[in-house]
Amino acid sequence: MAGEPQDDCLFCKIVAGHVPATIVRETETTVAFRDINPQAPTHVLVIPKAHYENAAALAAGAPELAADVLREAQSVADEDKLESYRIVFNTGAGAGQTVWHAHAHVLGGRGLQWPPG
Ligand code: IMP
Repeated sequence: MAGEPQDDCLFCKIVAGHVPATIVRETETTVAFRDINPQAPTHVLVIPKAHYENAAALAAGAPELAADVLREAQSVADEDKLESYRIVFNTGAGAGQTVWHAHAHVLGGRGLQWPPG
């Protein structure tokens, strides 16, 4: 069922504390942790605790929760004092999504090119 934890989901395991992560923020509904393979000085993933497979499913199924994720992404940027930063939701394999639990990448601390490729 939408939102329920999935046994085979890495990020559900991080939410449950079964896989270690460097957690930088946590709310009732979200967790933010450092990406294991950072692409910028700040590279934090913000996830809903509930399982939705990507941003599209999250926005359709739980728009308030999607707003929580965005608010937390902004808080990460504020905490790291990022003046310029990028919030990315890779959605679908063709866009580079590899973990099927919705997550926002917060990237900053260096110059970022556009288009991203
Ligand atoms: P995606 O490619 O947009 O799905 O992003 C998945 C991200 O999760 C990648 O940037 C990975 O480096 C990151 N990642 C994978 N496993 C872990 C982990 O165990 N801890 C933190 N980040 C992870």
